[in-house]
Amino acid sequence: MTEMLKKKSSELDLKFRYEIAEKIGAKSLLKCIQCGVCSSGCTVTEYVDIQPHRVVASCLLGLKEEVLSSKAIWTCSLCHRCTERCPKNVDYSFILALLRNMAASEGKIPKEYSGAVETIYNNGFVVPYTGGLKKNIDKRRERLGLPEIMPPPLEEIQIIFDETGLGALIRKEEGKIK
Ligand code: SF4
Ligand code: SF4
Repeated sequence: MTEMLKKKSSELDLKFRYEIAEKIGAKSLLKCIQCGVCSSGCTVTEYVDIQPHRVVASCLLGLKEEVLSSKAIWTCSLCHRCTERCPKNVDYSFILALLRNMAASEGKIPKEYSGAVETIYNNGFVVPYTGGLKKNIDKRRERLGLPEIMPPPLEEIQIIFDETGLGALIRKEEGKIK
């Protein structure tokens, strides 16, 4: 963060705070008083590279590149505790979801996410239901008297991905999925 604050003012995107705040439900960003309550109660605080109150400060200061490239916006578990505890009613967990959308539209998506999307696109399952895994599961289900797992409607899933732009976003990031 200290390094981030060494940026020259010409390198800051001073419109970033308004770019976020103008979105429905995100105006509360501008009310932050930097009390740090969000960070003190964050359930993933030890895993994030930038603490919640500092992400908010970075948005307000115009550190767009740093925020959208941070792991913090993806590590959040969206438990909403920060939002519940904020004395100024800053809806941080909602703002984080917006930041993810902004990052994704620039192709900044962690491999863990894009990989999961690619797997669903290609298989219809988060974990491919094939080979040895399929055999084992099928055997166990048969033993338990459970019905066969029906294959998901892959074509429909792929249409949804393509129509919503999700498939294109992943292609942008990794040049994959077909
Ligand atoms: S709890 Fe709210 S006011 Fe305090 S730092 Fe976090 S977002 Fe800002
Ligand atoms: S919603 Fe995210 S940032 Fe907020 S407390 Fe939960 S894990 Fe932390």
